[in-house]
Amino acid sequence: MTSWWDKQIQRADHLATRAGGSKELLTFYTHLLRAQKEVYESLRGRKDWLPSGDLEGDFPVLGEGLPSLLRVVESHGPTPIAIEAKALLESDPEVTREMLVRYWQSPSDIQFFGKASLQPYLKWLAETGARPLEREVSVGERHCPFCGGNPQVSVLQTQQANSESSNRSLICGTCLSSWEFRRVVCANCGEERPAKLGYFHSPEFDHVRIEACDTCKYYIKGVDLTRVGLAAPIVDEIDAAPLDLWAREHGYQKIELNLVGV
Ligand SMILES: [Zn+2]
Ligand SMILES: [Zn+2]
Repeated sequence: MTSWWDKQIQRADHLATRAGGSKELLTFYTHLLRAQKEVYESLRGRKDWLPSGDLEGDFPVLGEGLPSLLRVVESHGPTPIAIEAKALLESDPEVTREMLVRYWQSPSDIQFFGKASLQPYLKWLAETGARPLEREVSVGERHCPFCGGNPQVSVLQTQQANSESSNRSLICGTCLSSWEFRRVVCANCGEERPAKLGYFHSPEFDHVRIEACDTCKYYIKGVDLTRVGLAAPIVDEIDAAPLDLWAREHGYQKIELNLVGV
């Protein structure tokens, strides 16, 4: 059976070979996904251990798998984060632990290492049925019901094989789980008036669109799986980086930057 990680990796490998402007980002992401999968599998394969959801308590186990991820970033990442990876590898593990605890308590989409390291941990945590502990989480329908994170990408898919209608979900940028969300509503401020919600396509990306809100001026990208069933939303979202440029030029801000900083 193909794991969730393998599906992302296969899609990233495929898109990286034919990508235009986002080729470098996607190539880095193919390496990063493999490193994250390794962290996830080291947690999952650990004998007689399950995560408690208390990051400080779980860090001794999580921390063991992180140097390999840091080495991948040092070798393949863009210069600023490659330098940071090198510094973390050369410093005491306590520095990494403090950095993760800071992200745990107040996640930020510009804290690359916190997000990259904790996605595999939180994904496994969610699958084991535990809850994240010792952190304040945002609540409300636009936040992830598991970890309180911001949505990374919006996904449209057909509800049932025999149904004409499609439904919408959001994928969390912090823990990668998804939740159902109403179809015509801003994922940032809850605006529902159709006149305030704009959708922008480019012929280059037939199944990806910008979903922008003129009330709060935020946007999210939407991936339509009814058009390209093989798409992996968090990967296709990165591939469609030229759309982000368009959105920013038109005065919109992204709800949550993705792992490669777009
Ligand atoms: Zn989440
Ligand atoms: Zn809005």
